[in-house]
Amino acid sequence: MSWVTKHSPNPMSLDSCVTCGLCLPVCPTFRITGDETASPRGRLTAMSAVAFHGAPVDDRFADIMSLCLQCRACETACPSMVPFGEVMEASRAEAEAQAPAPRSRLRRFTLVTALRSRALLRLATFGASLLSHIGLLRRFPVVGDQTRGLRRLPWRVRSAAGGSWGPQDGPVAMLLTGCVADVWFSDIHTATVEVLVAAGYRVVAPSKQTCCGALASHSGFADDAAAMAKKNIAAFESADVVVADVAGCGAHLKSYGRFGDGASDLAAKVRDINEVIVEAVREGRLPSFPATDIEVGIQDPCHLEHGQRAHTAVDVVIEAAGFKAVPIDRGGMCCGAAGVYQLEHQKMSADLGQAKAERITRTGIKTVVSANAGCEMQLRRYLGNGYSVQHPVEMYARQMTENR
Ligand code: SF4
Ligand code: SF4
Repeated sequence: MSWVTKHSPNPMSLDSCVTCGLCLPVCPTFRITGDETASPRGRLTAMSAVAFHGAPVDDRFADIMSLCLQCRACETACPSMVPFGEVMEASRAEAEAQAPAPRSRLRRFTLVTALRSRALLRLATFGASLLSHIGLLRRFPVVGDQTRGLRRLPWRVRSAAGGSWGPQDGPVAMLLTGCVADVWFSDIHTATVEVLVAAGYRVVAPSKQTCCGALASHSGFADDAAAMAKKNIAAFESADVVVADVAGCGAHLKSYGRFGDGASDLAAKVRDINEVIVEAVREGRLPSFPATDIEVGIQDPCHLEHGQRAHTAVDVVIEAAGFKAVPIDRGGMCCGAAGVYQLEHQKMSADLGQAKAERITRTGIKTVVSANAGCEMQLRRYLGNGYSVQHPVEMYARQMTENR
């Protein structure tokens, strides 16, 4: 059986690949395995085999698609502008639709149902905190290992959703609180709100918003991702600007244009927090702090670099905060976090995490920023003690506090 859903890859997009191979050297999975089927060109060939030659969507096809990190480095390298992220999401939707029902149901519960429910996220966080407190969390090999990348595992989740801050008459900046970010990375939201208020915005975190849908979309649950997008489009309708402080979520919000009524309007209003700070500093709404010689390493999240093409904004934010911005491994490989990839492909994820940590270690820089929560976790895990890994907005907000 070939494609069975309405989400199948656009044949014109597949046809636009001229098989030049320029994407191969930038593809992390190809660089590590040397296997053509683990390259963008090989994956596109497999999709074309289904689309044009009746090849089946079987386990082999699903495995070829699954090993892709969806980092989109190949999109940046591609002279034919193949929209790789889009066709990969569509192929995964097909693979998921044709996967055995029990396996698909379990994945859907984890990646869609649980992420959409604040109650389930709270419960899971409380359970993990309890296990951590009594020293049993480490016995759960995957989850225990992941939580090493967290600064702390909160007992009680204080969601930012439903909050509003700042002057009543300012332009309205609506904050995407997200799913896991709202539970485990609330410090980043706190810093984001503080900076937005200082820039003159009235900040609102709509209570009716939901998870952006990136994890669902990347994992092949296209209908669920569309339903989440619809809910968010309604929740953020009255925003002047929609702000994301997790690069993966921001990249997905910026791609909402494909989801119908009102979607393009919303997508056009989305900004990563670093872009907002750069604009406010240039307009004099936020200060620049006196320059120092303190070096801060910049790690570029794939979804800020290739998904949003906004990664250099972080350099400007760090310089405005008074530090010397040192991009590390710019144009290099994905750190291997990639959402749930780190759970589903642990060996590949670990190889990439270690490679990224080695590049950082070689610079001798001990403070590193990353604008994506998942990358932060991955860097903390593989850099270990002696390093400080933060979000750029946290460094900028701290400078505001210390220079008051
Ligand atoms: S760079 Fe683009 S056109 Fe060339 S092989 Fe890769 S995807 Fe195809
Ligand atoms: S998205 Fe990343 S991992 Fe996937 S094919 Fe492109 S470069 Fe390779």
